[in-house]
Amino acid sequence: MVASNTTETGPYDTVICGTHLMFLEAAKELNVEPCSCLVIEDSIPGITAGKAAGMKVVAVPSVPKQSHLYTLADEVINSLFDVRPEQWGLPPFEDWIEGTLPIEPWHIGGPVVKGFGRGSKVLGIPTANLSTDGCSNLLSERPSGVYFGWAGLSNRGIYKMEPWLLHEFEDDFYGEEIRLVIVGYIRPELNFPSLESLIAKIHEDRSIAKRALELPVYSKCKDNLCLSSLSGRL
Ligand code: ADP
Ligand code: MG
Repeated sequence: MVASNTTETGPYDTVICGTHLMFLEAAKELNVEPCSCLVIEDSIPGITAGKAAGMKVVAVPSVPKQSHLYTLADEVINSLFDVRPEQWGLPPFEDWIEGTLPIEPWHIGGPVVKGFGRGSKVLGIPTANLSTDGCSNLLSERPSGVYFGWAGLSNRGIYKMEPWLLHEFEDDFYGEEIRLVIVGYIRPELNFPSLESLIAKIHEDRSIAKRALELPVYSKCKDNLCLSSLSGRL
């Protein structure tokens, strides 16, 4: 539960769990009205309790596929990356920079594999596909969404990436080893009413990523790319 009188401990003044009475008790302790409290919950009983206490509730379903069961909440989000306190009259998180959230970098890599070719053909946006063999555990622990970072190709160099390599290549590079260091988060996956709106959004993501990767917090991670096992001229 979060209340708007923040302290140096960050926006979380009090963290509690239990029935609506406990939520009400916490509001009392914080000396705020229940209606100015925001509950962030992953369970249906917690959401029910938060609403019963007269509070705003943001649900982060522990089982994302079951988000339809969380309709009582004021908002259902995919992961804690998507909590926006400012939407609820609370101070914004301070770690977002220029529309991006720096994350603890994670590395994945392997040969570029073939997909259905839809990226280029349907969207005009080629997205190099990596096999999930060997990194499915790592991926399953991460919230789905749009991320960006640096990509190293064994024979070509290092490029900005989100989610396609932000560079014009003259040819395909199927089979070539690619290393990615994912350094930031932009947004959750969304449904788009049309192909045009999807393409526009991807181009917007591209601009955000391209600009952000110039910032020291992200550009320093370029050196982090595990290129030691890559052959070629890197
Ligand atoms: P697929 O479904 O096989 O991934 P795409 O249409 O998404 O096909 O195109 C991706 C392929 O295009 C990559 O595997 C790579 O060989 C090639 N390619 C060329 N330029 C780029 C780029 N800038 N970013 C990503 N892939 C690119
Ligand atoms: Mg692709």
